[in-house]
Amino acid sequence: MAVALVPSKVRSFFRPGLKKRRRSSNSSTECEPKKLKDASTHTTHDDTKVGPDLQPNSKFFRDLPIEIRRMIYDLVWIGSYDHKYHAVRGRHLHFQNGHWHNTRCVMYEDDEDLDLIQKNMDRIHGSGRGDLLMWQRRLSSTWGSRHWRCEERMQYGGKSNIDRTNFMSMMLVCKRMFPEVVESILESHQFIFNDFFSAHRFFVYDPSPYIPHIRHLDLSLNLPFHAYAPLITGGPKSRTRDLFDALRGVSCLHSVRISLDIYDRGPWRKIPEKVIAAQLKDLKVLKTFTLELPPLLPIKVHPSNMESLDGQEDTSFKVIRRPPLRYWQFNPGEVDRFTWETHTKGRESHCFIIMDREGMSIPNPYLLDFF
Ligand SMILES: [Zn+2]
Repeated sequence: MAVALVPSKVRSFFRPGLKKRRRSSNSSTECEPKKLKDASTHTTHDDTKVGPDLQPNSKFFRDLPIEIRRMIYDLVWIGSYDHKYHAVRGRHLHFQNGHWHNTRCVMYEDDEDLDLIQKNMDRIHGSGRGDLLMWQRRLSSTWGSRHWRCEERMQYGGKSNIDRTNFMSMMLVCKRMFPEVVESILESHQFIFNDFFSAHRFFVYDPSPYIPHIRHLDLSLNLPFHAYAPLITGGPKSRTRDLFDALRGVSCLHSVRISLDIYDRGPWRKIPEKVIAAQLKDLKVLKTFTLELPPLLPIKVHPSNMESLDGQEDTSFKVIRRPPLRYWQFNPGEVDRFTWETHTKGRESHCFIIMDREGMSIPNPYLLDFF
């Protein structure tokens, strides 16, 4: 993460001066040695010897307690666009081309309606005016119905003034301030991950020592089914399980939304909900904890080999289901509206998609749905 890399940049700016100004006495009453030691573990060996200047002559550090300093940092993060968007301080984090990027979440309160995209498609389907293919692309976006606008802005618009922050300028003020600034950033923003690679890198592969300070997290993961499979079979290696284990190490989460799905987000998709619920049940969240899952369809799977797909046990989190699809692009260039029907024959029932346009029925192609 960029945060972990910053101390080396700070060193290049401040090290000569630090050597000259180094004081023998630790006269500061606000040195917080543990945090400073944690921060210095990510610098070079030489840095550990020098240590940060405790800035005893600074009125900011000498006269203001840490609580006041935190309130001041919090004021610095107020953005001029915060009032426009639903997530007050929502920042998308993604790792691309060897660098971390953070961008503003630009979704509105109306976007919290999980059926909003299909409602727009209903209007276009009814009036014949509009671009159904464009909305179909949004419907199938791996950034999900909650962040499709943020994805499009990154794909077609690039960064703008909305994305600007004071993060880097504040982190470069001095080593004494650095840990407080990073902690304040992590505590006062909602961090949003929309791809597994970035989330895994952030929490598992190259975690920052400041990660325990994260308070608000939004995780949207769209994975192939085989990424969930080790959770069912109890396989020894699972990057998905590693990520969930790392989240349990974030000790003071206030609000968490974990959104899980299959990467194609197709009509028949299904994930192993029972084992995922078991993975997340120990995750401690102080205020709101929501797990967002694919639609609950009348599909039952063959009990002998996939029984762990279904089932909800008592959980410490709230489960939200996405609405079932009623639009999909079964053929290239054509978006079809359809309904769900169940056919019963003897003791067996099967779930079908009935296409509006041709009256054709499509059976579930992936799973046996005996029930
Ligand atoms: Zn967003």
